[in-house]
Amino acid sequence: MVQRYAVLNIWVDAVTTQDVLDAVVDFVENGSRVHTIFASNPEKNFSVPQDPILYEKFKKADLLLPDGIGMVLAVKCLYGVRMERVTGIGTMQAICRLAAERGYGVFIYGAKEEVNKAAVDNLGKMFPGLQIAGRAHGYQPEDQMEALVQRLNDSGAKILFLALGSPKQEQWIARYEGRLEHVRVCQGIGGTLDVLAGKTKRAPLIFRRLGLEWLYRLVTEPKRWKRQKVYPVFAGQVLWAKMKKFFW
Ligand code: UDP
Repeated sequence: MVQRYAVLNIWVDAVTTQDVLDAVVDFVENGSRVHTIFASNPEKNFSVPQDPILYEKFKKADLLLPDGIGMVLAVKCLYGVRMERVTGIGTMQAICRLAAERGYGVFIYGAKEEVNKAAVDNLGKMFPGLQIAGRAHGYQPEDQMEALVQRLNDSGAKILFLALGSPKQEQWIARYEGRLEHVRVCQGIGGTLDVLAGKTKRAPLIFRRLGLEWLYRLVTEPKRWKRQKVYPVFAGQVLWAKMKKFFW
């Protein structure tokens, strides 16, 4: 049983990558519905409550990954529990390795056409034997959705990686999950395909090890300050919640 912690307005699960892989095998082999895996991070503490569909979908997710160092530190501060950081991109790659070993078909939906194609090509090279049952770019007009759902069902894919960014990917799965016949696992992977296609660079290992990936991204993509400006507010609210817990 995965331990889920409430952190301010959202939640995060204390899982390891191996726990996620064990759950994926169980969902694919024994499941009868779509099981969702989303990343939990400080930005979502502010964005999730603003959208009722996103909020419900996020709350009911099967797994909420401790994607950002912010969630790991928040759980340590509020509960005294040390969690491992489990990134969305690392999880996606681990699931692809598992899928290649077990012959689960994957469908990759999202990002620009050239990004999607390059990422899929790279995944094929990284994980020989990976059965890529289908792919689609993330800018399909609304009137193409029926055809896309049909393609997804015809592909027989068991695993769907959704790369539409948040909240689009959560809204998409909330709307169409009931129509997916074979998909048993859906992971929301945000901008991961941009990294896999080589369009966006991941922070060097030293930054990741020190929990400073956010700093690297801020310096290399200054536009991200708009998203990252919530970090100090998040930290302040976590400390305030800790103080309230301590004194009351
Ligand atoms: N995207 C898409 N369709 C859309 C809007 C966005 O496929 O209608 C893709 C976009 O090309 C990018 C990803 O969604 O690859 C969003 O990445 P971002 O890093 O903003 O998402 P996050 O990880 O923050 O959820």
